[in-house]
Amino acid sequence: MTDFDGVVIGAGHNGLTTAAYLARAGMKVAVLERNARIGGGSSTEERILPGFKLNLHANFYMGIGLCPLLKDLELHRFGFSYIEPPVQQAAAFRDGTCVVIHKDLDKTCASLARFSKQDAETFRELWHTYCEEMRPLLVSLLYNAPMPREQLLDRLSGPKAKELLSHAQHDLFSVVRKHFVDERIRTLFTSYMHVITTENVPGAGIVFPAIFANIASFTLPVGGAHTLPLALARVVEAGGGTVVTNAEVKEIEVKGGRATGVKLADGRFIGGSKFVASAIDFPMTLTMAGEERFPDPVREKAKAWHWGNHSLVTLHLALKDAPRYRAEAFDPDMARAYNIFFGMDNIDEVASCFDDCAAKKFPKVLMGNGACNSAFDPTYAPAGGNSAFWWPFAPYSVDGSPQEWDRNRADYTQRILDYWRVYASNLEGDNLLGSYLFTPLDVERLNANMRQGAVRMGAYVPNQLGINRPHPLMPGSRTPVEGLYLCGSSSGNGGGVNGAPGYIAANAIADDLRLKRAWTPVPPPEWRH
Ligand SMILES: Cc1cc2nc3c(=O)[nH]c(=O)nc-3n(C[C@H](O)[C@H](O)[C@H](O)COP(=O)(O)OP(=O)(O)OC[C@H]3O[C@@H](n4cnc5c(N)ncnc54)[C@H](O)[C@@H]3O)c2cc1C
Repeated sequence: MTDFDGVVIGAGHNGLTTAAYLARAGMKVAVLERNARIGGGSSTEERILPGFKLNLHANFYMGIGLCPLLKDLELHRFGFSYIEPPVQQAAAFRDGTCVVIHKDLDKTCASLARFSKQDAETFRELWHTYCEEMRPLLVSLLYNAPMPREQLLDRLSGPKAKELLSHAQHDLFSVVRKHFVDERIRTLFTSYMHVITTENVPGAGIVFPAIFANIASFTLPVGGAHTLPLALARVVEAGGGTVVTNAEVKEIEVKGGRATGVKLADGRFIGGSKFVASAIDFPMTLTMAGEERFPDPVREKAKAWHWGNHSLVTLHLALKDAPRYRAEAFDPDMARAYNIFFGMDNIDEVASCFDDCAAKKFPKVLMGNGACNSAFDPTYAPAGGNSAFWWPFAPYSVDGSPQEWDRNRADYTQRILDYWRVYASNLEGDNLLGSYLFTPLDVERLNANMRQGAVRMGAYVPNQLGINRPHPLMPGSRTPVEGLYLCGSSSGNGGGVNGAPGYIAANAIADDLRLKRAWTPVPPPEWRH
């Protein structure tokens, strides 16, 4: 087990995606994973009681139905499937009201119209534009390497493209104000804009169209989030490749300016004669390959890489009955909603939560989203049980230091549970079988890439988005070191479980090595009307 055509560092879903595509193109590939299990941020564990499955990181696979991996790699044959619940999302408020987002457009508009008829009409227009008409464009933007602005402007023209690009003038709050008028609806959308953990800075509003496009495409991986990496690993193995756990890469070997393999922490050398692809974070990849091999601006950017001002703290519960939300009296569909937001009643509260996170304080206003997966897929809990979670936004360093999460675990658990009880009536007594708190410090412990609890391997700020992720001098997954590629979430189009960075890297490597593809690439973005 020492000589391969290619080596991939990190068996998260992106590293496995790159490996799976290249295995299908005839490459003999090794994927090396430092942890005892594969999957990275697509993980499922039973940490409360046997049979109660907890997705510790990613839970909502957004827009996975349009992801090319599923069809190209026939993932259904390798054990991956998903559910797309008809009642997609809801936001519950303290006064017992709620807004519900359905897959059915008319039902959503009816729910929004209870607060604002104007916003319901705006939602309908945005839906036609971003969820339908421009959706293929948004998919091709996601699955193609980001382009320099001038090149992109050459490919996108016409009033709708202009409107799409105009979102770059906004921050996350102003982009929502631009579209919606009602305070509650603005509160829901401002919270929703943060679900991919974008920072509220000027320019960040550009993410609005892509996030909106997924508003009714939230899916639940059947059997657990880990079924995706497991399926991808099977594709790699079926193509003659190998996935190795407990294999921590310490160094990328570069000879004559070319990446030739990696050295493991236990001293072994694994050769990759044609390529080395790194699915771990960009700053660590530079360190492993030798920073001196990269131009000054790239090195400086790696040193200043912004991991983000906020992370997530997750309270997982093992329950008998699923959480019962008080807002069900206002709209019975609340009881069937998959992704549920609560904690914030107005824009000031949203702002206060993120200000506290930036100030490294446990937020006074806890807000975020969560789900009860077993209500949609019974395999998430044993018979007669339910597993539910809520993940409010929270800082990595809390009340003075990250270690406070360990020191005050019981207190933080209680505070989050008390807050959740304001919205749900049955989280106590016999119905509550157990709980588990997964903190931003735990996020970092479990995944070396998610430094400072970074949910997306690096914050979403304009300087780290598009062609700037990680740096314009490293476009299209390529690096200044020949044969070394980036294929993880700090490259391509960023984090989230969609396989985009892994897919983009596989295409770059296939181009550079002139491989015969077993798939048809997603066409480059184009819009001319
Ligand atoms: C609490 C939380 C909730 C989230 N919720 C969602 C969600 O609902 N939906 C969504 O789409 N996304 C969500 N995310 C983000 C999502 O988990 C990540 O974007 C995604 O997992 C990134 O995939 P990746 O393959 O790029 O990297 P990772 O999944 O991080 O994989 C990288 C792998 O590299 C391994 N590695 C690191 N260093 C080394 C080394 N030296 N040698 C070998 N291997 C190494 C790691 O152990 C890891 O397995 C969430 C994240 C968190 C933390």
